[in-house]
Amino acid sequence: MRIKSLTLSGFKSFADKTTIEFQDGLTGVVGPNGSGKSNIIEGLRWVLGEQSAKNLRGGKMPDVIFAGSQTRAPLNRCMVQAVFDNTDHYLKNQQDDVTITRKIYRNGDSEYLINGKQARLRDIVDLFTDTGVGRESFSIISQGSVEEIFNSKPQDRRMLIEEAAGIVKYKKEKSKAKTELSETTDHLDRVSDILLELE
Ligand code: ATP
Repeated sequence: MRIKSLTLSGFKSFADKTTIEFQDGLTGVVGPNGSGKSNIIEGLRWVLGEQSAKNLRGGKMPDVIFAGSQTRAPLNRCMVQAVFDNTDHYLKNQQDDVTITRKIYRNGDSEYLINGKQARLRDIVDLFTDTGVGRESFSIISQGSVEEIFNSKPQDRRMLIEEAAGIVKYKKEKSKAKTELSETTDHLDRVSDILLELE
């Protein structure tokens, strides 16, 4: 699997729809300070489900929408779309091309799509868990995060190793199963109470 293209429309400094095509091999993005290089990476992080506005250098999520310039009015919505080449079927049960889209409106409403179909944030997160590409994975290393990893507590650093080893998915499933088990136990207790009342 590899990323084929990233389209930004109304996202941060990218007021106009802009598509960046990634070829095989290494891609470098060069430009003057403040020209939007980091915004491209933040667009990728955002479409993969980033929920922290702070991680995107904003105060609240709608801050990612183009805020206007001297010559242009602010926009009311933005969209980022990432297309992945999945011909190796690294993303299970998906087509050869996987397109992830995220939109947000000024009022805070947001939308996620997988291959053009409405999806939940959870579907996006699940799709990329343990692939090394998810929003919390370490395939995106931002400025300062190497130092952060070195200075982090052993428990936090363990998360990094777990993601790389591909066991995050199983930990999440275990936690979900535990919650379901506890709910089922509560239901059984309730049924026992009712049976006792009926006897
Ligand atoms: P550097 O080389 O200094 O790290 P860069 O090329 O990575 O810079 P970015 O940090 O990606 O540049 O872009 C910063 C620019 O994006 C600033 O000019 C800022 O005004 C603009 N910008 C950020 N958010 C928005 C927004 N919501 N609307 C309009 N412009 C924005």
